[in-house]
Amino acid sequence: MYPKRDLTNGKSLLKRAQQHMPMGVADSYRYWGEDTIFLSEMEGPEIVDVDGNRYVDFRLCYGPIILGYRDPRVDNAVIEQIQNVGSMVGFSLAIESEVCELIKSMCPNIEKLRFANSGTEAVLGAIRTARGYTGRQKVVVIEGGFHGLYDEMMWKSDVENWDSSTAENPEVMPFGAGLTPTSRDLVTLIPLNSKEALEEVFLGEEIAAVIIEPIMGNCGSILATQSYINALREICDKHGTVLIMDEVKTGFRVAKGGVQELYGVHADLTTYAKALGNGYPVAAFGGKARIMDCISLKEGGVVHGGTYTANLVGMAAAKATLEILSETTALQTINEVGAEIQQILMDKFLAYGIPCTFSGPDSMFGIHFSDVVPQNYRDWKETKAELYTTFANHLIELGVMVEPDSREPWFICEAHRNIDMNQLAEKIDVALSRTEGLS
Ligand code: PMP
Repeated sequence: MYPKRDLTNGKSLLKRAQQHMPMGVADSYRYWGEDTIFLSEMEGPEIVDVDGNRYVDFRLCYGPIILGYRDPRVDNAVIEQIQNVGSMVGFSLAIESEVCELIKSMCPNIEKLRFANSGTEAVLGAIRTARGYTGRQKVVVIEGGFHGLYDEMMWKSDVENWDSSTAENPEVMPFGAGLTPTSRDLVTLIPLNSKEALEEVFLGEEIAAVIIEPIMGNCGSILATQSYINALREICDKHGTVLIMDEVKTGFRVAKGGVQELYGVHADLTTYAKALGNGYPVAAFGGKARIMDCISLKEGGVVHGGTYTANLVGMAAAKATLEILSETTALQTINEVGAEIQQILMDKFLAYGIPCTFSGPDSMFGIHFSDVVPQNYRDWKETKAELYTTFANHLIELGVMVEPDSREPWFICEAHRNIDMNQLAEKIDVALSRTEGLS
C-alpha cells in the first residue's frame, strides 16, 4: 500500500552538491547520508521533495514555521515592503519601533530590544550585554540546552557516552574542532531541575548569566519544574546574575508571551528568533531597560549591531507574523491540533503496548519511549531513543516528516489544522507495525 520512496533525483543532487559544499549540505545537520532530503516546494503544512514525495511536516525547519509555509499574509507583507520601501538601507525606520511595540504588547517582560538575524546572534548579543552589565565573565548553561553555534555555547555534557551508573558528572566536550580552548573556561554546565547543582554552582566564582530554555526545545521539550524556575529566579536576584531565557524555539509559539507567560516568571534578558518571522530570518534579544541600556557607544558600553540588523525583509515578516499571532486565535488552533495529534499517537502507542510519555506544550511536544517523563538530559538517556529513531524513520518513509532524533520535538503550525488526521493515524499505525523491537 505504501511503496518505498524513490529518492533518485535527491541522490544525484547530493552528489552534485558534494562537489561544492562540505558534506554536500549548507548546514551539517541537514546531512542524512544517502537519504539527504532535497526539496522542490513547500506550502501550508507540507513539503515536497525533488522526487515528488510529499510529506506532512512536523519538523518545520526546527520551529520557525508557526503559521504554515508560504503564508500569504506574511509573504504579501514582505513583498509589499520590498516593492514600496526596500530590503535594507543601513538607516533607521519606524517599522523597528512598530515591531518592538508588538513584542512588548505580547511579552510584558520586555522593556527594550535589539534585533539580530539568527538565534545564535541573539544569544551572543544577550550574553555580551549580560557581561557588560555585570562586569563578570562566567556563564552557566543547562545540560541539553542548545544556544547556537558559537564557541562558548558549543560545549556540551557528553550524556550520550556517560555511564549513568556512576556518581560522576558527564564529561564536558566540544561540539567539534576549531573552538578556542579558553571558551571552555567561561561556561559551567549543570543538569536541569537540580536545585542542589544550582546552589553549588553559585558557591564558586561570580556568575554573569545563567542561560536556560525552560522548555528544552532541543532536548525533547523536557520541562523545568515551576519550583526550579522560582528558585532560579531567586538565586539570580540574590547574586546579581542576569537570568537569560532562550526563547528562540518557545517565543511566540508556546503562548503569546512565551514560556514566561506559562511560568509567570520573568527573565532579565530573553532571546527570540524562529516563530518571530514565520520562516524569514529575524531574531531579537531584550529585557530590562537598565541592562539593555548598557548597549551604547560610550566608553565602557556594549557594542551591538551588524550590516543586516533589522533589515526590512525580517522586519516586515515579524510585524505581519506578530500581528496575526496577537490578533487571531492561531496559537489556540495550534494547541488544539497538537493535542489531537498527541492523542492519536498515544492511542496507537497504547495499542502496540509501547511505554510512552509526552513532554512539553501541545505546540512543540517531545515523545519519549519510557514509563517516566524525563526531568533532565541525563534522564533522557534512560529512554528508548534508538527505538524512537527507528519508528521516526518509518514515518518519514511514509510521508510524515519528523526529526529522527527524539531530542527534537514535533512542531505544530496553524496550517496543520487542514491535514487528514485519519491518514496520519493510519501512517503512524503502519510505521509502528514496521518498527522491530517494540515490546
Ligand atoms: N537557541 C535555541 C533554543 C535554539 O533552538 C537555536 C536553534 N535551534 C538557537 C539558539 C540558534 O538559532 P539559529 O540556528 O537561528 O542560529
